[in-house]
Amino acid sequence: MTEKIYLDHAATTYVRKEVLAEMLPFFTEHFGNPMSVHSFGRDVAKHVENSRETIAECLGAKPKEIMFTSGGTESDNLALRGFAYANSKKGKHIITSSIEHHAILHTCEALSKEGFDITYLPVDSEGFVDPKELEKTIRPDTILVSIMHANNEIGTIEPIEELGEICRQRGVAFHVDAVQSAGVLPLNLKELPVDLLSISAHKFYGPKGVGALFVRNGIRLKPILLGGGQERNLRAGTHNHVGIIGMAKALELAVSEQQEANLCISKLRDRLIDGLLEKIPESRLNGPRGNKRLPNNVNVSIKYIEGEGMLLHLDMLGIAASSGSACTSGSLDPSHVLLAIGLTHEIAHGSLRLSLGKENTEAEIDKVLEVLPKIVANLRAMSPLYQG
Ligand SMILES: *Cc1c(COP(=O)(O)O)cnc(C)c1O
Repeated sequence: MTEKIYLDHAATTYVRKEVLAEMLPFFTEHFGNPMSVHSFGRDVAKHVENSRETIAECLGAKPKEIMFTSGGTESDNLALRGFAYANSKKGKHIITSSIEHHAILHTCEALSKEGFDITYLPVDSEGFVDPKELEKTIRPDTILVSIMHANNEIGTIEPIEELGEICRQRGVAFHVDAVQSAGVLPLNLKELPVDLLSISAHKFYGPKGVGALFVRNGIRLKPILLGGGQERNLRAGTHNHVGIIGMAKALELAVSEQQEANLCISKLRDRLIDGLLEKIPESRLNGPRGNKRLPNNVNVSIKYIEGEGMLLHLDMLGIAASSGSACTSGSLDPSHVLLAIGLTHEIAHGSLRLSLGKENTEAEIDKVLEVLPKIVANLRAMSPLYQG
C-alpha cells in the first residue's frame, strides 16, 4: 500500500502539532470553568480572554466583538437568526446568494417559514455575485445581507468589500461566512464594511466543534441558545476552553504563514488544474482562475461519468477527494452550487473537488495526474453515454 493522499481540506483539516501542544495542558491541569470565581476558574478565564484578544487581532476586530461558538454552523445560525429576531421590527427582508453553505441556506429556509422574506441572488458562470444585482435587490424593508467570502465547492472569492459598501450606504447589516477564507485570505475588519463574520477552527488546522462570530460593536442579536450568562448573555453554555485556545493558536499561525503558504499551494493548485484539463478530454474547470480563486481549491467536471465513481476509485488508491460539498455527497442531488453556475444535472454529477493543504507535495499532485486520467478512461469505457 502506498502513502495516502489527503485532498479534502475544504471538508476539514487535521490539528497541527503546535496547536495540539498548546491545547493539551488545558484538558488536565487547567480545567476550571471560566465562569467560576475561584482560582481554577480565573486561570482558565484568563486564557480564554487571551485567545479572544489573539483572534480579534488576527481579524482586525476588538476583543469584545468576538463571540465563541461551537463552529461555523452555529456562527451562521446565530448571525442570521439572532439578527433577524432582534431586528424584525425594522423589516423582514433578507438577501443571500444561491451558492451559500447549507448552514446559511437551511437557516434562511427556516426563517422564511417564520415569516421572513428571503431573496437568493444568482451568480455568474464563475460563481460571482454581481454588486449591481445586490444594489437593485435591496428594499426599504431589507435588514440583512449574507454573502460568503469564499465558496467551499468552487473556490470563488466574492467581492465582499464592494458588497459591504453597498450595504453600508443603504443602512443594511452585512454578514459574511468566512469559514473557508479565515486564515487563508487577509481579513481586516477595521477596514472591511462587514458587521457579522463567521469562522470555524477545523478549517484552518484547529480542532472541530469550535468557532467564532464577529459581531461589530452596536449590532444587536437575540441569543438562540439559552442558559447561563456566558459570552455577555449572547451564547449560553460552558466555554469549550480547550477548543478556544486551540483555535486562537491555529489562526495566529495561519495568519503569520499566510503569504508563503498561499504561494506554494496556489502553484500546486494550478499544476493540478492545468494537468487535469490537459490530460482528460471533455473536462472543465468550475470557478475562476487566478487570484479570485481560493489558493487551495480545484473543482472539475468530467463529462460522461459520475463523480461518485471517480471518488471510489481514488479512495481505493488512498486518495481522498470530494464529489461536491461534504454535505451533499452521499445524496443523489447534484450540488446546488454547480447548478447555480449553469451546469446541467448531467455535467454537475461528474464533478470532483480536490482541496489542497499545507502538507501536499508536487509528487502527490503528479500521482493524481497519473492515476485520475486512467480512472476516467476506464469509467468512460464502461459508460453507454461515451462514444470515445
Ligand atoms: C465548513 C463550512 C461551514 C460549517 O462549519 P462547521 O464548523 O463545520 O459547522 C459553514 N460554511 C462554510 C463555507 C464551510 O465551508
